[in-house]
Amino acid sequence: MNAEVVVVGAGPIGLLLAGDLAQAGIRVTLVERRTEESPLSRAFAVHARTMEVLDMRGLAEEVLATGRTVPGLLAWDHVMIGMAELPGRFPYMLITPQYEIERLLLKRALEAGVHLLAGHAVTGLQQGADDVSVHVRTPDREESTLRALYVVGADGRRSVVREAAGIAFPGHAVTRSMMLADVRLTEEPKNVLSVNGVREGFVFIAPFGDGWYRVICYNHLNGDLPDEAPVDLEELKWLTGKAYGTDFGMHSPRWMSRFHSDERQAASYRAGRVFVAGDAAHVHVPAGGQGMNTGLQDAANLSWKLVAAVRGWARPGLLDTYDNERHPVGRAVLRTSGIYSRMALLRSPFLRTLRNRISGTAMRITPIRRAVALNMLSGISHRYAAPEGAHPWVGRRVPDFALDGAAGRLYEALRGGRFVLSTPLVPPSGWSDRVEHVIPADRGMRSMLIRPDGHLAWAGDGDLARPLADWCGPAS
Ligand SMILES: Cc1cc2nc3c(=O)[nH]c(=O)nc-3n(C[C@H](O)[C@H](O)[C@H](O)COP(=O)(O)OP(=O)(O)OC[C@H]3O[C@@H](n4cnc5c(N)ncnc54)[C@H](O)[C@@H]3O)c2cc1C
Repeated sequence: MNAEVVVVGAGPIGLLLAGDLAQAGIRVTLVERRTEESPLSRAFAVHARTMEVLDMRGLAEEVLATGRTVPGLLAWDHVMIGMAELPGRFPYMLITPQYEIERLLLKRALEAGVHLLAGHAVTGLQQGADDVSVHVRTPDREESTLRALYVVGADGRRSVVREAAGIAFPGHAVTRSMMLADVRLTEEPKNVLSVNGVREGFVFIAPFGDGWYRVICYNHLNGDLPDEAPVDLEELKWLTGKAYGTDFGMHSPRWMSRFHSDERQAASYRAGRVFVAGDAAHVHVPAGGQGMNTGLQDAANLSWKLVAAVRGWARPGLLDTYDNERHPVGRAVLRTSGIYSRMALLRSPFLRTLRNRISGTAMRITPIRRAVALNMLSGISHRYAAPEGAHPWVGRRVPDFALDGAAGRLYEALRGGRFVLSTPLVPPSGWSDRVEHVIPADRGMRSMLIRPDGHLAWAGDGDLARPLADWCGPAS
């Protein structure tokens, strides 16, 4: 066996996953066909739940230092979708280039002991009863085979792993020829993150915080051009002028490109010993900035389950819960990002007026405003199904809370990648290799067993050994 787990693709998702596994002591090989850092910075919006996931790995402060936080998104020139009401330590969106996230995750993964095979491309795989053989083309164009207990395809939308595992990727093309540019502006937009859809098309503007702005737009009048067609700065300025009444003095683009979007989701996120995560599992329009965020949360959901399976203490069916829990989240993201983009692309003046009025009124209604921020953007409210009879909080994200004395916060306790048992009671012995015991500052809180991804496994007042044995295997 070359590795216990082979992760294919060193994008943000593969890096987070491989780092988690290596930190837990798993032998991980990360196969990446690139030899250089990716020149593309597609993602730039990091949402609150992702910040929490990074906080649980001790990376939130470093990530925050790479970008700029914005309080929300101004849509259609008058509708504010604010994040300030979000619960938790990160009530905003962080705007930072995707390569900053990748740099931090790569550093963490290498420090944790991930074996990185750069310049190696996976060409296929075969599943056996007890292992998977992964076929790899080396930089010298020789064929080689890696063997592992499990394989995760984090190899993007054209995933070879997904294809080789026979996982279907149904869906359809949505938008053609979106234009993207990183530019300078002489005049700062009045609200820092904004989108507007008008008769001619739509324009979205986001600040990186270092003087550069990301502009994404679509021109209805120019038809659907191939991705290779050059982007004209004058066209961007013209469209921005139509959407905002000014082009903000746009100049000096450092990167201009076109892209298209599909809406597709893997029929299943698991086939035997093979899993898919991130863009290999779901792709959609970038409206709402959901792709990388959703993928990082896929990785956080899967990593501890693989650790449990490799170590031999996974409860029956645990690996299947990855698909059960994350597939519905991916489906919801496809739906909501599709709604945003279709709203931005409306051509009929009547429908645009209706959109502006309805969304303006809806965002003044507190429960709707909170639902959009919580459910549709930040990822904060994703809740996994709980077994019948479980405590009503089971499956929910556990909010960060203070621990007794100088022990810090729950999310700091989760940095060990283990379950956390929060209880003022004396815990039963035999699980300390898999479970961190903490005492909450509020000693009136009921006992809770918190999964390594920060969701609630169990809450109650009774016997602690039962939930520990149920979730974390027999006492050692
Ligand atoms: C314009 C645009 C804006 C976006 N904005 C946002 C945003 O603001 N927020 C957000 O959350 N998301 C956003 N996204 C989506 C986000 O960029 C993706 O969801 C994210 O990059 C997915 O990460 P990944 O690791 O799954 O895949 P990728 O980033 O595609 O990484 C896959 C890796 O696998 C490697 N690889 C592929 N095939 C093989 C092989 N056979 N062998 C070895 N290695 C292989 C590739 O070289 C690559 O390094 C945006 C997307 C676009 C297009």
